[in-house]
Amino acid sequence: MQIDLKNPLLMLPGPVPLHERVLNAMSRPMINHRGPEFAKILNDCSSILKEIFKTQNDILIISGSGTAGMEAAVSNVVKGDLVVTIVNGKFGQRFEDIVNLYGTAISVKCEWGQPIDLNAVEAALKSHATVITMVHNETSVGILNPAKEVGELARKYNAIFILDGVSSIGGNEVFTDEWGVDIAILGSQKCIAVPPGLSAVSVSKKAYNAMGVTKPPYYLNLKEYQKSAVNGQTPFTPAVSLFFALHEALNIAKECGIQEIIDRHEFYATVVREFIKELGLELFPTLNEYSEYSNTVTAIKMPDGFSVQELRAKMKEKGILIVGGQAHLKNKIFRIGHMGNASSEEITITLDALKQSLIELGVNV
Ligand code: PLP
Repeated sequence: MQIDLKNPLLMLPGPVPLHERVLNAMSRPMINHRGPEFAKILNDCSSILKEIFKTQNDILIISGSGTAGMEAAVSNVVKGDLVVTIVNGKFGQRFEDIVNLYGTAISVKCEWGQPIDLNAVEAALKSHATVITMVHNETSVGILNPAKEVGELARKYNAIFILDGVSSIGGNEVFTDEWGVDIAILGSQKCIAVPPGLSAVSVSKKAYNAMGVTKPPYYLNLKEYQKSAVNGQTPFTPAVSLFFALHEALNIAKECGIQEIIDRHEFYATVVREFIKELGLELFPTLNEYSEYSNTVTAIKMPDGFSVQELRAKMKEKGILIVGGQAHLKNKIFRIGHMGNASSEEITITLDALKQSLIELGVNV
C-alpha cells in the first residue's frame, strides 16, 4: 500500500477513509428530494439501519452530525424533567450540558476513562428521573459502557433510555430493542464510513409518547421527521449528496455482511491492543466487569516525559493521522481510530509507523 503524504491515512475516531464507491456516489447529479427516487433512498437506508440497530422502531435520519442526534433526542423528550446523565468522558459531559438546557441533570460522574458505577446509576434513578442518558462507546477515552445493564435499570424505573451509539453502532453489537433503548443515535462519519454530517436516531413508542406534551423543538422535531418519513421525505431539505453516500455505504455493508463488519472491528481492536501491550505501553481506560475496551478507538497513555504533539507529528511525517486526548487529557493520551473500512494493511502500516515514531522520540519500546 502506497502512503500518500498529501492525503494522509485517517486513523482517527472519525471521520474515516471512504470507500471509492461512496466517494463516487456523492458526485451524482442532484435529484428532487420530494420525488420517488429520494423516497427509495430514504426507505432503503432506514431498513438497512434497522438491521444495524437491531430494532423494529422507526429510524429517522437527520441532516446534522452526531450532536444534532443527541440534541434531537434530549430536546424532544425532556421538558423540565429530571434526567440521569452518566459521565465518564467528553461525550457523556456533552449529553449533560445538553440536558441542562432542557431539564435538570442528576449527574453520575466518574473520572474520564473509569468504569461507571451501576449502583450509583440505580440510586440516581430512584430520585424520580424520567430519562437517562449514556454514551455507549466513549470515544474520548476508548471505553465501552454497559448499555444492556443500564437498559435493565431504565426499564426497572420506567425511564426513557437515550443511548449515544455514535461511535459504536455498526462497530459493536447494539441490541436496541432487546436492551430497551428508547432513542439510539448513530453518527455517519464513524463505523458506517460516510462523510460527517448525518445522524440517525431510532425512536421507540415510549419515546414518542413522551413527546408532544409541551412545545417540541422546531428543526429537530422528531414527530415531524416521523410524519415525513411515511412519505419517503424529511421535513426540511436534506443533505441529498450525503444521502447518496449513506445509501452506497449501507449497500456495501449489506454486501459485506453486518455481522462480519462488527467482527472485523473487534478483531482489529484486539490486534491494536495486543501490539500496544507488546510495545510496553499502557491502555488508558480502567475496566470493571461491566465495561470493555472499545472496538472502534484505542486510547493509550503517553509515556511520561514525552509529547503527544511530537508523536502525532512523527506519524504525520509518515502519512498517518492519529489524535491526542481531549480537554484535560490533551497531552496525556493518544488515540488510534480503527473504525469504518480500516483494512488489515492499514492497521499494520499504522502500528509499524507507531513503533518507529516512538523509537525516534526516544521512548523505550
Ligand atoms: N458522541 C460520540 C460518542 C462521539 O464520538 C462524537 C464525535 O466524535 C459525538 C457524540 C459528536 O458527534 P459529532 O461530532 O458528529 O457531532
